[in-house]
Amino acid sequence: MPQLEILESLPLRPLAQPEVPVVSVVLPAHNEGDGIRLALETIAGVLRQCNVSFELIVVDDGSRDDTFARVQEAAARHPYVRGLRFSRNFGKEAALLAGLRVARGQAVITMDADLQHPPSAIPELLRCWREGAKVVHAVKRDRSTDSRMQRLRAQLFNGLISRFGRIDLANASDFKLLDRVAVDVLIERLPERGRFYRGLAQWIGFPQANVQFNVAPRIAGAGKWSLLGLVNLAMTAILSFTSAPLRLVTILGFVTLVFAGLVGGEALMSWVQGNAAAGFLTLEFTLLIIGSFVMISLGIVGEYIARIYEELKGRPAYLLEERVGFEDDAGKR
Ligand code: UDP
Ligand code: MG
Repeated sequence: MPQLEILESLPLRPLAQPEVPVVSVVLPAHNEGDGIRLALETIAGVLRQCNVSFELIVVDDGSRDDTFARVQEAAARHPYVRGLRFSRNFGKEAALLAGLRVARGQAVITMDADLQHPPSAIPELLRCWREGAKVVHAVKRDRSTDSRMQRLRAQLFNGLISRFGRIDLANASDFKLLDRVAVDVLIERLPERGRFYRGLAQWIGFPQANVQFNVAPRIAGAGKWSLLGLVNLAMTAILSFTSAPLRLVTILGFVTLVFAGLVGGEALMSWVQGNAAAGFLTLEFTLLIIGSFVMISLGIVGEYIARIYEELKGRPAYLLEERVGFEDDAGKR
């Protein structure tokens, strides 16, 4: 009866807010000042109805607006609100990592701070967790609120990674529930800095479950992903999950070799027959095409080397500037 043991080890004085909450919610936020308060209130409301103790952790990823001030206000009113502020924008992946590191709950839910991940799905996530799943993925049921362009981009992005990375990302999102076991594995056993949360949560294994949700429209502000940001994320995802592009280069090399052999043989034949062709155009095209292949291949190899270099430098994934709702708010960097 482990529950009895826990009960007996509790201090006798009543606690307004239990020391260790059952559920931690991690919310990466970048310029979400307009909506963060509503998001915190809505999520807290849902969790209260679920009858679990909880904490809400906002990771302000270098916002230029009043996001962190709003979090500080909320933390002053509610002991369950905690906040971290990065020294600059380090990206959502870094924000998720920071949140997972400070979360204390037995289960940790990661979700967007713009209420696009509906808090109403939380009870379902908790149910799957109680039934034994260690990782519960919230999967998008439809993307009708996204624009055509956004949907196309997401399709391309997920398709590429599913193909090369051998992980299934169709309609996957960063809206997930992780059991403490999964959180510990993610933060302690996977030291890589170029992280791709969506893939890693699947890669670690353990009993996993899916829950469907409908993407809600943004409460305030605009989407933060630039095309370049997405391309970057896609590159991280592919490079950190597979070396297939390198193999592709090798295969391409062999294909080109065979092709070169055929063309060369044909040229030799016509020379022997005494009617060497004046194929200047052919020559030019062949040179250009092979040149491009070589450049692309170098680029692919270079991308991997760049990642190796990044990991080797060992710089931290983020730097903290401020925090609120922690025992010593002087701030440990
Ligand atoms: N976000 C972040 N850092 C960034 C970009 C976004 O922490 O550099 C947060 C953002 O505040 C939001 C979540 O990540 O809570 C998803 O971002 P957004 O709504 O812009 O993307 P989308 O809904 O299109 O996936
Ligand atoms: Mg959003």
